[in-house]
Amino acid sequence: MEPKATLKLVHDEENGTRRTLEKQGYHFVGLHKHSAVKTCFWLWKSIRGEGNCYKGKFYGINAHRCVQMTPSIFCNQRCVHCWRPLEAFTVGRETKLKKQPIEWDSPEEVVEGCIKEQKRLISGFKGSPKTNRNAFAEAEAPKHAAISLIGEPTLYPYLKGLIQEFHSRGMTTFVVTNGTNPEVLREISPSQLYLSLNAPNESIYKKVAHADYWSRINESLAEMRAKRGKTRTVIRITCIEGLNMVSPEGYAELLKRANPDFVEVKAYMHIGYSRKRLPREAMPSHSRVKQFASEIAEQLAPASNYKIVDESEISRVVLISNRSLERLRLF
Ligand code: SF4
Repeated sequence: MEPKATLKLVHDEENGTRRTLEKQGYHFVGLHKHSAVKTCFWLWKSIRGEGNCYKGKFYGINAHRCVQMTPSIFCNQRCVHCWRPLEAFTVGRETKLKKQPIEWDSPEEVVEGCIKEQKRLISGFKGSPKTNRNAFAEAEAPKHAAISLIGEPTLYPYLKGLIQEFHSRGMTTFVVTNGTNPEVLREISPSQLYLSLNAPNESIYKKVAHADYWSRINESLAEMRAKRGKTRTVIRITCIEGLNMVSPEGYAELLKRANPDFVEVKAYMHIGYSRKRLPREAMPSHSRVKQFASEIAEQLAPASNYKIVDESEISRVVLISNRSLERLRLF
């Protein structure tokens, strides 16, 4: 990875893209606008008492108490399935950019900004007859931060402090990383750490991510293994039909290196900017995802107790674990 001080921006293009993202429901917070918060479909369902997202089913998260945010809209990969625009906010060696280093807001500013903005966003629901009063009261005091919106959170230089800031407010944290910065994983302790693994080998990785960090991702898999018992660890495999739903034995080999608590095998979702790059057919059905998850679990099984323990058809995700179900819901 390039040193953080050399990360560059193209302001005009980025400001234009920010405006487009705002129209799509992203709300930028803080002075330097590198952080964003967005309420999701499930938060609205949950606040009406009409349902919860798969994170509720698997891990006990209430969507109406969850702040979905990112401290870094920037990313160093250019994944074909990414919801964000790849024309802006890409950093690292793949970028041809101008001269301005990124200026970062402090963890306190980012956390305060996100919570305040989320409260403002839900305030309109107070008077709605469909709103569940208890859920609304709970939503005003969020309990969970999903640091996973878009962009790569390990590029934010104060990620450790950001997690601590959420924890100091009595909130739990999920961090989702692309695994390109193993040294950052070494120093952070979120409640649950996700690594997105989108290929079973380097050649498919290059086709999916259009980047060159395979050896660093492998280092991160080793870091995940070292974290087990201290932080709950999850490897998420985003399945893209026709691209990376091959070689379950390759995925199993990589998973054995990380020895995660959970593996989420999830369908790519045909939304956001990814629609410009992938056809709708790239989004596999739930049954196809489940079949692929079974193949991965089978490859893992001879040497471990990994098996399918849960699934959510509406979100097209299957959960593999070697933990007992009673121990899944810690939140
Ligand atoms: S790592 Fe995540 S944020 Fe970055 S390009 Fe890939 S999908 Fe998008």
